[in-house]
Parts: sequence; C-alpha cells; structure tokens
Amino acid sequence: MSLDNKPHYSGGCQCGAVRFHVDGKLGGASVCHCRMCQKAFGNFYAPLVSVHRESKLIWTRGEPKRFRSSNFGLRGFCGDCGTPLTFEAPDGVALAIAAFDEPEEIAPTVQWGLEGKLPYVDHVHELPGYTTEDDPEAADFVNDIVSYQHPDHDTDQWPPQERK
Ligand SMILES: [Zn+2]
Repeated sequence: MSLDNKPHYSGGCQCGAVRFHVDGKLGGASVCHCRMCQKAFGNFYAPLVSVHRESKLIWTRGEPKRFRSSNFGLRGFCGDCGTPLTFEAPDGVALAIAAFDEPEEIAPTVQWGLEGKLPYVDHVHELPGYTTEDDPEAADFVNDIVSYQHPDHDTDQWPPQERK
C-alpha cells in the first residue's frame, strides 16, 4: 500500500528485466483453462487479474515483448527470460497473478474456459505432498541453490553489481 492509501501493487519477471506497478485497485482475478491460455503460460491454466479501468499500469523497468495470439489478443512476456506477464485485449489488460511480488493477496474468484480444463487439474490437491526440504535425497542440493531470480520487491539496480 502506498502512502496516499491507494492500493499499490508491484511485480515483474523472473530475470528482473521487466518490472511493473499498478497504481490503484485491481479488477477481477481468475484462472482460465482454455487451450490458448494453457499454451501461452506453458501450464495447466492461466491465473490472471485484470487492471481496473480506473487504475494505472506502469512499466517501471523495461516492457514486455508481445505475441499476437489471436485477432483480439496480445500475450506479453519478458523478452529476456520468457516469463508470461500479460493478456491484452481490446477491453483491457490482465496481469499474471504469480508475477506479482505478493501473489498471495490476489485470490482468483472465478474459472473461465472450462471446455479446455485438463482432466487431472481437480485432483492435484489430492496428490501426496512434500516441502522442498522434506526430500532427503535432494537436501544437500537444495542447500546449495543460489537463486538468480529477481527478488519479490523493487530494486534500484538489477542485476546486482557483483554478478556482472
Ligand atoms: Zn525477464
């Protein structure tokens, strides 16, 4: 939240070349199961939140590349690292929920494109589940992981000087 008490959101791609702010409130949050969204995200479904028409989307570092995925839509993604970032249609722009720095604040409230829903999606939560640290065979490896992803907050300079 910004000082003037208006909702304020930030996010970006994994490599940090593209960063955004939303000044103002967000619109509807959803997941879309349609086949076009699956392909655009390389995933089971696309979690998207629309930018409210009274709010302002600002690209604070870089800007997405866009692929015209249909006569109506553009799909924005980081041209350096490929992170899916937007769905842009004549009626507005939606942002990928997990690209936000605090995606836990943006819970989807509706599903679209059910005709494309993959048959196992409804059963993912029934699968056996473990935390990353739970896997003893991977423990040493996990302890040695150094993330090169951009952190979940704005940075003055990226990448950090020492890695250049
Ligand atoms: Zn990137």
